[in-house]
Amino acid sequence: MKKNKILLCVCMLIYSGMFAQTKTDSTILLSSKERSIVLISAYTAQGNMPKLQVALNDGLNEGLTISEIKEMLVQLYAYAGFPRSLNALNNLMAVLEERKKKSINDAAGREPSPYPARKTMLQAGTENQTKLIGIKIGGGVYEFAPAIDQFLKEHLFGAIFGRDNLDWKTREIITIAALAAMEGAEPQLRSHFGVGMYNGITKNQLAELVTIIEKEVSPKRGMVSGQVLQAVINQKPYTPVTMPDEAVFPIGQKIDNNNFSGTAWLKQLILSDSSNQTAVGNVTFEPGARTNWHLHPGGQILLATGGLGYYQEKGSPKRLLRKGDVVKCPPNVPHWHGASHDQPFIQIAITNNQNGVTVWMQPVTDNEYNSN
Ligand code: MN
Repeated sequence: MKKNKILLCVCMLIYSGMFAQTKTDSTILLSSKERSIVLISAYTAQGNMPKLQVALNDGLNEGLTISEIKEMLVQLYAYAGFPRSLNALNNLMAVLEERKKKSINDAAGREPSPYPARKTMLQAGTENQTKLIGIKIGGGVYEFAPAIDQFLKEHLFGAIFGRDNLDWKTREIITIAALAAMEGAEPQLRSHFGVGMYNGITKNQLAELVTIIEKEVSPKRGMVSGQVLQAVINQKPYTPVTMPDEAVFPIGQKIDNNNFSGTAWLKQLILSDSSNQTAVGNVTFEPGARTNWHLHPGGQILLATGGLGYYQEKGSPKRLLRKGDVVKCPPNVPHWHGASHDQPFIQIAITNNQNGVTVWMQPVTDNEYNSN
């Protein structure tokens, strides 16, 4: 009993430390839609139908479409089993029927695009899994029971993650909320906290997710999930990059001018000259670091080689860049690029200087950096 009390105190301390961090950091929190997604996923995983009914109504009121919610409940079969998924879908049908009677008109939302032709589910799933997690998965249990490896790739990463009516960041929020609410899924929760961060969920957003579980779903599950999250953060400190193991080119010199915010490094690989007016540089951004707004009169190509970054053109949403992504930036379009909130980003920038050199503009404000 006494031991339990001490453990509880220690956990509360860890937990309140996390919460304090959430308050002092100015980084973004979950959107109201994402908070609804957390609750819908957690109650589906627990099989708590009365609470799910309330969460579904709240989610629809927040603007989640019918297609998005259906997709979440379908995805959850992979984590909570067909019975929980089917019960939740039946619950959604009843909720929609009731709202229709009250003349509430919920948006249908869009259907997913067709699967890419010329690829088997196993091929598509293997590619999606590698991109989502950042490394190739194999060995261990997947070698011991190859059938589970095949089904994970075909069903979960091929068939489910191949549907584009939810993005991968949202799919990770769904998975993490479900795993946090379930007993005995701590090893999976631990790895999905990491995968979630790799797909653009910030540490503070994860701490907020855990707070929602603790306050709304189950104090005990919230506490256990908080411990797992703290362990993940302690184990993988996203501190300044020196020389990431996987980097292909040297990190170069610290950039010392006003065209960047935060700490970034440049290794100039090719200088442009009269015979070839293309410049190639390897740029490493520490978490939170980014360029100012700028444009290239001759356009630019970016090759993402490590970490997790952002790219945004004026007037368009921010794009998440993972290792292996490429960007063709059109001539004269103002844009910025840089690291994500918690992880560094490494890119090769290929700049065409034929029509003139880069035109630098104002810094990217915290608001611009934090918004979608
Ligand atoms: Mn650029």
